[in-house]
Amino acid sequence: MLVMKFGGTSLGDRERIETVVRLVRGRLARKPVLVCSAHAKVTDLLLEGARAAAQGKPDVGPIAAREHEVLTSLKLPTSLVDDDLRRLSEIFQGLSLLRELTPRSLDHVAAFGERMCVKAIAALLRRRKVPATAVQADEAGLVTDARYTRAQPLPEAYEHLARSLRTVKGVPVVTGFIGRDRDGNVTTLGRSGSDYTATIVGRAVGAEEVEIWKDVDGVLTADPRIVPHARPVERMTYAEASELAYYGAKVIHPSTIHPALEAGIPVRILNTFDPSAPGTVIEPTRASGSAPVTSIASKRGIRLVNIVSGRMLGQSGFMAGVFEAFRRHDVVIDLIATSEVSVTVSVDRPDGLEAAVADLRAIAQVDVEGPCALVAVVGDGIGGGGNVVGSVFTALAASGVAVRAISYGATKTNLQVVIAEADANRTVAALHAAVFERDR
Ligand code: ASP
Ligand code: MG
Repeated sequence: MLVMKFGGTSLGDRERIETVVRLVRGRLARKPVLVCSAHAKVTDLLLEGARAAAQGKPDVGPIAAREHEVLTSLKLPTSLVDDDLRRLSEIFQGLSLLRELTPRSLDHVAAFGERMCVKAIAALLRRRKVPATAVQADEAGLVTDARYTRAQPLPEAYEHLARSLRTVKGVPVVTGFIGRDRDGNVTTLGRSGSDYTATIVGRAVGAEEVEIWKDVDGVLTADPRIVPHARPVERMTYAEASELAYYGAKVIHPSTIHPALEAGIPVRILNTFDPSAPGTVIEPTRASGSAPVTSIASKRGIRLVNIVSGRMLGQSGFMAGVFEAFRRHDVVIDLIATSEVSVTVSVDRPDGLEAAVADLRAIAQVDVEGPCALVAVVGDGIGGGGNVVGSVFTALAASGVAVRAISYGATKTNLQVVIAEADANRTVAALHAAVFERDR
């Protein structure tokens, strides 16, 4: 079996959707299972609609208009989504009466984009004589925890999904992004979560490969908006992809690699706008002869938390106290750098940070610095011959950027530096030049 995941842009208009149908037809022999996002822009419209409803302005008009536009262009009946739009309208009325919007209601609303989209895609495939059935992942067993807006699958999800998908007639067209907690409430896996659904489904059905169809030529050596001559990366390992995914939407949803890694399934990133381009394959082990560095990525909006305490000197358990404060407020820490009397951590979401810092002040002096950017040089070969680390530091010195923190761990897949946000682009460009353009 083959999982084919299509993102919002690939399902954004008639031309793209016709390409999708063609791609699916060409792969019928490999028994495809489709995983679909919402049509482009729909999730944003849903979230905006929910916010407006909670402020007393319930209106499904813009969402209905967008759905009808796509269906009409495909010559499909708009009645396909009547029920969903009616339910959505009732929910908006409810939100407007309560003037309240919880993460749980946000997920419930956001899920409608995928719900409606799979109905359209399955109907179109059937019209083109490809037997297909729309599958709502939450109803088909994708059980998650109850962390609304960023849920994770529970272990039983795989077995449940495998069992339901086995009975589906024709090509299953499965909703990405959504699941359901053990109490039956709808959850989502976070923005761009359909990538994650694709590998969850892939692991559930024991797929030979997961194809993730995007609107770019796979992964590039850097963001082309920063480095116009960045090149596509042909292959990379799970470890490299996991490091890179953290740096943003250009690659894949950060959790996507876990299910693939657990089941050893290769993930191929492909471009619907150029289906014959080779794309990027993400695989378990490093191909011989690969370049030491795969890509240079960056992430903005980072805060650095500097924690200084004399009590740290020669004490055991101080770090545990520090990490416990972050855990208590559900703050995810990324980079860590320590000395004998201080520890610096980086954090990329503001939620809970203030409360964690307040707790930390009971045991140490704390200051928060930012906005900063993290720039990462990612590649399984960094630690091998070739002195990549040396070139990186030489380039940093030459560019005159002030480095605020550095991390280079034991796995040697990722060398990260934190700098002021304003220096992000020139740091990426300088490091790209040093690592990839030495012979240019
Ligand atoms: N439709 C959802 C979003 O826009 C999920 C996805 O695209 O993967 O975030
Ligand atoms: Mg999307």
